[in-house]
Amino acid sequence: MKKQTIRPAILYWFRQDLRLRDNPALAAALAEARAQNAVLLPVYLWAPEEEGDWPAGAAARWWLHQSLQALEQSLQARGSRLLLYHGGLERLLAQWRPSITVLAVYCNERYEPAARSRELELRQYLRQAGIAFQSYASATLWKPGSLRTQAGQPFRVFTPFWRLACTQGVAPEAVLPEGRWPAPVRWPPSSLLRDLHLEPRPDWAQGLRETWKPGEAGGQAALRRFLRNGIHSYAQGRELPGQRGTSRLSPYLHFGEVSAASVWRAVMQSEPGRIAAAQPCLRQLAWRDFASHLLFHFPETATQPLRPEFARFPWRMRREYWTAWRRGRTGYPLVDAGMRELWHTGWMHNRVRMVTASFLVKHLLIPWQRGAEWFWDTLVDADLANNSLGWQWAAGCGADAAPYFRIFNPMRQADRFDSKLQYIRRWVPERVTESAAIYPPPIVEHDRARERALAAWVTLRGKLQNHAQH
Ligand SMILES: Cc1cc2nc3c(=O)[nH]c(=O)nc-3n(C[C@H](O)[C@H](O)[C@H](O)COP(=O)(O)OP(=O)(O)OC[C@H]3O[C@@H](n4cnc5c(N)ncnc54)[C@H](O)[C@@H]3O)c2cc1C
Repeated sequence: MKKQTIRPAILYWFRQDLRLRDNPALAAALAEARAQNAVLLPVYLWAPEEEGDWPAGAAARWWLHQSLQALEQSLQARGSRLLLYHGGLERLLAQWRPSITVLAVYCNERYEPAARSRELELRQYLRQAGIAFQSYASATLWKPGSLRTQAGQPFRVFTPFWRLACTQGVAPEAVLPEGRWPAPVRWPPSSLLRDLHLEPRPDWAQGLRETWKPGEAGGQAALRRFLRNGIHSYAQGRELPGQRGTSRLSPYLHFGEVSAASVWRAVMQSEPGRIAAAQPCLRQLAWRDFASHLLFHFPETATQPLRPEFARFPWRMRREYWTAWRRGRTGYPLVDAGMRELWHTGWMHNRVRMVTASFLVKHLLIPWQRGAEWFWDTLVDADLANNSLGWQWAAGCGADAAPYFRIFNPMRQADRFDSKLQYIRRWVPERVTESAAIYPPPIVEHDRARERALAAWVTLRGKLQNHAQH
């Protein structure tokens, strides 16, 4: 590349904010580029080696591929581009250095432990290189760390967190400045999206393609659909996996294709004066914030129980149970329906996530961490904070968790939440049709499994008491 082919540049670093709308860091970067008479270079860095123990799983990588493609098109429509690179920011800047003068890097913050420690290193590197670094808090409604108890401690229980959060309001919409984006005459080289190898080989993503439209436009469409059809009956509909009673915004929120604040504002506007109708949905959205807040304060909880005594729980890893659970062949129709929905669509209804997770950790006594890893690889919305919270909740070892001794009965859950078998019929058709013979019998008997789980719990308590006495 010839020296000075590009004017001074502002680098915009897309991370988990793959959108143009309501993107405060992007709006600020664009304004700064214009003010400095610099070009704006939008970049996405594919660096799984920087994600610690949690590089994106297979389903999330599929999603990311589609989302980057959509983002590239949106940027092209504004006379810009998306530059793709494999590797970290330092490497890219070193590659650019002789020919491109980067004045500043703009991005939105991430709060996973690996991302936070990377960001610290990067800040130091950029300071030494004389490049400004501007980061913005837009991944959550309220910046993790900003809401605390009166004693200044992190909340461990959701309701008081929610009560305080409700007094805060959310940020106003960040509006992008009008007009064409300052772009270079000659763009620096970029990798091709297909060279990042995000899509699965062999191709097993047909079910995902049939179910989802990743990207900002897909996210906005999902939000509009929810505001039109779902929000009014959300309080009841959200518990019924056989109906489309929830927003299905979780992957769009994870990848930042839709901002949480824009969902909050849209829900509030769609229910003016009817806060009671909006409340259940806003509350769920706030659980997402609570999850980020917990991971922020307790970064070890992606792999370690928040309640440390659970590290001594007598888990057992039985291969045949593990296989049956993953394949949706446990003989419990609601559990199997959930695991098959997950495999086919990359998503599972929240009620069924709770039931399948509880079944794994209580009926089968398999460690919650194994379940969390499986979800991580198969969910399109796999999100370290939400997934850790969900699994610790199910295993009774997290913040505000279901007590371990409260054990879901998967048959009763099916009667309550899928009484017309709409969900089970869809995912386990052999259970409700004449081919019932090929459906496996239960791998464990409910009452015996329940007793075994309670006995394991008593063993744990015994161990703890012994430990305390010595
Ligand atoms: C074991 C287990 C694992 C989970 N793993 C994940 C995960 O990896 N990624 C993920 O996004 N969610 C996870 N959840 C939370 C929840 O199941 C999903 O967020 C929800 O099913 C997404 O569907 P929706 O978008 O239609 O939700 P809606 O009901 O429409 O809710 C709107 C948004 O609020 C947030 N939300 C809703 N419920 C929860 C919750 N219980 N905890 C945190 N945020 C919530 C989500 O961002 C969701 O998109 C998990 C739950 C459990 C029990």
